[in-house]
Formats: sequence, C-alpha cells, structure tokens
Amino acid sequence: MYDYLIAGSGLYGSIFAYEAGKRGKKCLVIDKRPHIGGNAYTEEQGGINVHKYGAHIFHTSSKEVWDYMNGFADFNHYVNSPVAVYHDELYNLPFNMNTFSRLWGIKTPAEAKAKINGQIAELNIGEPKNLEEQALKLVGRDIYEKLIKEYTEKQWGRPCAELPAFIIRRLPVRFTYDNNYFNDRYQGIPIGGYTRIIEKMLEKADVRTGTDYFELIKEQPGIAKKTLYTGLIDEFYGYSLGELEYRSVRFEEERLDTDNYQGNAVVNYTSKEVPYTRIIEFKHFEFGAQPATVIAKEYSSEWKKGDEPYYPVNNDKNNALFEKYKALAAGEENVIFGGRLADYKYYDMDKTAEAALAAARQEM
Ligand code: UDP
Repeated sequence: MYDYLIAGSGLYGSIFAYEAGKRGKKCLVIDKRPHIGGNAYTEEQGGINVHKYGAHIFHTSSKEVWDYMNGFADFNHYVNSPVAVYHDELYNLPFNMNTFSRLWGIKTPAEAKAKINGQIAELNIGEPKNLEEQALKLVGRDIYEKLIKEYTEKQWGRPCAELPAFIIRRLPVRFTYDNNYFNDRYQGIPIGGYTRIIEKMLEKADVRTGTDYFELIKEQPGIAKKTLYTGLIDEFYGYSLGELEYRSVRFEEERLDTDNYQGNAVVNYTSKEVPYTRIIEFKHFEFGAQPATVIAKEYSSEWKKGDEPYYPVNNDKNNALFEKYKALAAGEENVIFGGRLADYKYYDMDKTAEAALAAARQEM
C-alpha cells in the first residue's frame, strides 16, 4: 500500500511526489499519457528540446521558487520577447515603446502616452467588465484592434467582450524600450529540458505511465492511503454537476532544413486570417546552433472529451460551476486536488510550483 497515489505527473504532481519522498512517504505516480511531465514535457530532437505541449518559459518573482527549481536544473538566460505579425506589419511585444514607435512613428514616452490617453478618453469606459473593455482601457483602440482582438478571439474562441478581464492583465504595458514579456525578477529555460527536471523529481517514486486513474482505482481501490488528483475536477465527479469548459491546443510540428526559420522563439500571428495563433521555433529558447530547426504552429480549439485540456475558461458561468465542484472536493477526506485542471486556474508554472509546495507542507 502506498502513502500517496498521485494522478498526473505534471509539475504539480511531481513536486508533490518529490516533497513526499523527501519526508519518507511512498508514492505511486501515474499518468495516462505514455510519458511523464504533463504539458511541460520536452523531447530532444537532434539537440533541440521540443516543448511537445507548447512553449513553457519559466518565470517567477519568488526567490524560493526560483531556488527550488534551480535545485533540479541550471536555467539559461533566455528572456521571452515575442514578435507579433499583423498582416504585413511586425511589432514587438509586450506593449512597449518599440511597439508604440512602430505603430505611430513616435519617439518619446510622453508622445506614446498622449496617443494612448487620447484614444482611451474617447471610449469612456468605467470599471472594465470584460477583456475588451480592459484591453481598450489599457492600450487604446489601435493596439486592441491590431494586436489583441483577433488573436484573443482565435485563442479563446469567444468574443473579447465575453472573456474575463484578468487574462489581458497578464501582459505588461510599459513606456520603456523593453521587450521582456514578463515583469518577473527571474526567468529562463532549463538546460537539458523540462523532462529531466521531472525525472529527478520522481526519482524516489514508483511511476506508471499509460495508466488511467479511473481504471486503476476501480481495480485497486485500496492502492494508497491518500490520493492527489491533478486531472479535470468535473471528470473526477463524472461531470455530475455539469461540464466545465476548457480550451485545447493542437500543434503542427515541422523539422526544416534551415538553421534559422523566424529569428525568434515566439512569433504571434494576431490577425484572424492566419488560422494558428503562433509559431514556436524551439532552438531559440536555448540559443541553438544546429544546422536544422524544429517549429510548431499552434492552433486553438474548444476542448471536447478525448482532447488534451490546456486552459480553463474562467468566465462567470464556469467559475460558478467550479465552486460547486470545489465544495464537493472539500468533503473528500482522502483526496487532495491540485494543479491547473483540478483547481480550474490559469496557473503559470511558478504558481503551480508554489501551490504544490504549499499543499505538501500542509499535508505532511
Ligand atoms: N494576447 C494578445 N495578443 C498577443 C499575445 C497575447 O491579445 O499577441 C492576449 C490574449 O488574450 C492571451 C493573453 O494575452 O490569451 C495571455 O497571453 P499569454 O501569452 O500570457 O498566454 P499563454 O502563453 O499562456 O497562452
């Protein structure tokens, strides 16, 4: 009998397993996929670490989390600076002086502020009630229309006016010439890829991939004293209160016979005419000098059963349903829930790590 059955070997489950192992607990970690790592899984192809479930850039303002992760790998000095393509125009992200200068031919922060404030004043928006109002209020109409509206509607499959405002507050708006996508103090990509980190975290645990939680628990209900479940919370309860909505992502991966396809790791395509949201060129995460390259085009879609879930759709309707599942979950004596899917939260990796460490501390 195990102390913990951990369903899901993503970052949350793996950190919890590591912490449990450190405290002498016996863990069985299962994953229904044929590999560990969840969506952080990377696969080495000819010296290039391919992020098989989309770009994962580690960034945090927490020294504790940064030091913790650095205990499993060295991180390089990659700084995420995506480029956005809108028709034949190209802009730096996040929204900063480089973006404003290219857009309006201006040079100074005062000119940029005057331009944005002029556009905001015309709109007369009070407290922003949705992503559209929030975006317009942050950056005005020009940027909203060229760099936000169509990209967001592609990614989320819903009008911006029906999406929560917090999603757009993830992006910095700056009046300096600084293309760093994040405001966090620490940032980088683990040298050797994320899979190696997860392998180290799981060193003391028993691991079974290709194993479905629901099938295992049906056959061996007594396999562990407690369960940590990191899958879909609504699926755990057989969707009995209704289905939560998620977005899924599909990747078209290509290996190309060129050493440098797009000159940057991340290029966003912000117009609706391009069917994918972005192209990732993985070698640039690690300053790769290989003669060939691997790219992935990212397509967003509504999640349906059988797809991989990626993003919770945190609108009022789903959040209210999640609260009901959460109330059920609170009544479980031997099951802990955590991670992006069970917490139904748009966690970044650092927040996932923080939450897993807190859960382990509380538990043991
Ligand atoms: N976003 C946008 N234009 C861009 C990039 C992002 O409007 O070129 C918006 C979009 O609404 C997206 C949100 O910002 O959902 C958060 O983007 P981020 O890159 O943080 O998302 P992730 O990498 O988690 O998909």
